[in-house]
Amino acid sequence: MSSSEYEGVMVFAQQKDGKVHPVTYELLGKGREMADKIGESLFCVLLGSGMEEVDELIYHGADRVFLYDDPSLQEFNVLHYKKCIVDLVEEEKPKIFLLGATTIGRSLGPRVAAALRTGLTADCTSLDVDEEGNLIQIRPAFSGSVMATIKTPKSRPQMATVRYRVMEEAKRDTSRRGEAIKKRARIEDTRIRVLERKEFEGEGSIVDADIIVSGGRGLKKAEDLRIIREVADLLKGAVGASRPIVDDRWIGRQHQVGLSGNTVRPKLYIACGISGSVQHLAGMRNSNFIIAINKDPSAPIFKEAHYGFVEDLYELLPELIAEIKRRRGMKTACITERSMRI
Ligand SMILES: Cc1cc2nc3c(=O)[nH]c(=O)nc-3n(C[C@H](O)[C@H](O)[C@H](O)COP(=O)(O)OP(=O)(O)OC[C@H]3O[C@@H](n4cnc5c(N)ncnc54)[C@H](O)[C@@H]3O)c2cc1C
Repeated sequence: MSSSEYEGVMVFAQQKDGKVHPVTYELLGKGREMADKIGESLFCVLLGSGMEEVDELIYHGADRVFLYDDPSLQEFNVLHYKKCIVDLVEEEKPKIFLLGATTIGRSLGPRVAAALRTGLTADCTSLDVDEEGNLIQIRPAFSGSVMATIKTPKSRPQMATVRYRVMEEAKRDTSRRGEAIKKRARIEDTRIRVLERKEFEGEGSIVDADIIVSGGRGLKKAEDLRIIREVADLLKGAVGASRPIVDDRWIGRQHQVGLSGNTVRPKLYIACGISGSVQHLAGMRNSNFIIAINKDPSAPIFKEAHYGFVEDLYELLPELIAEIKRRRGMKTACITERSMRI
């Protein structure tokens, strides 16, 4: 089939219990920008049961929402979802198909790509489109030391998964109008039944936290994470970690920040005893405000930090904790003036 028969950008709207995952609104923001650039439409595909956020997808930029509303789609079943999406893509022929690089997107995307005999660029951190409608897919490569730009001019649709929290959410505009098209799910018996869903009972994801206090190999032992936790608790934030202390099982993998962990974008990121490797920076450099605490003034983290403290974390953090506690009752906790700007 000739590539000129493919038109428009399509976004997979991930949902759970009817609530659309925020990565969808980030994909719609980028999808709208690219669709406008090539003068084509933005489509969205939503699968589930009893969903109410269809209008929101239109308010966030979709021209058309394809809705598969069926009790069999209530729980994520990768084979059912794949079947519906493959049918839809074969019918509608979008030029570009985007999914979030979430657990669901990472499981669904490659299966859809394989069934459509097209390629997929996983974990993109940036996207653009050229005048010919070729998707420019940018993602870290060679352990994060280079940013690769990938084009797939001969494949249609061009598929990519995109990391959560690397793109701006689409602006909500309630005056936008679009079309919701109900589709019938042609579900085959996949012999997979979802009997029960159990929510993970850990400390939860750090991805949505506004404040993250992270510890790295500057910590001497696992128990010392207690200091990081105490600062995070006082600031009502979450605990993050560099990979080595996750690999050493000092803390769960859901806390890892970086290339092979989570991408985060908090209002405040405090890196304690973290050198600032390219792989760690890849996961946190878009934070609004970065504070680094490191004994070594030449640590690369200081190049990214808005404030740098060349200090021993074992001396500075207890002082910070004491100062915050002393100021309790005041609205904000401030860092003492002994800061050293790098
Ligand atoms: C494919 C691949 C993927 C990777 N993915 C990730 C990832 O997702 N996330 C990630 O973090 N890493 C990742 N890495 C590992 C990465 O390359 C680094 O090894 C890692 O980020 C280093 O962690 P760190 O900064 O905690 O440790 P180090 O680099 O050892 O730095 C420790 C820092 O602590 C400072 N320090 C020591 N003692 C103190 C003290 N008392 N007070 C203050 N500062 C002190 C030191 O000066 C030093 O700068 C990946 C690597 C590869 C190859």
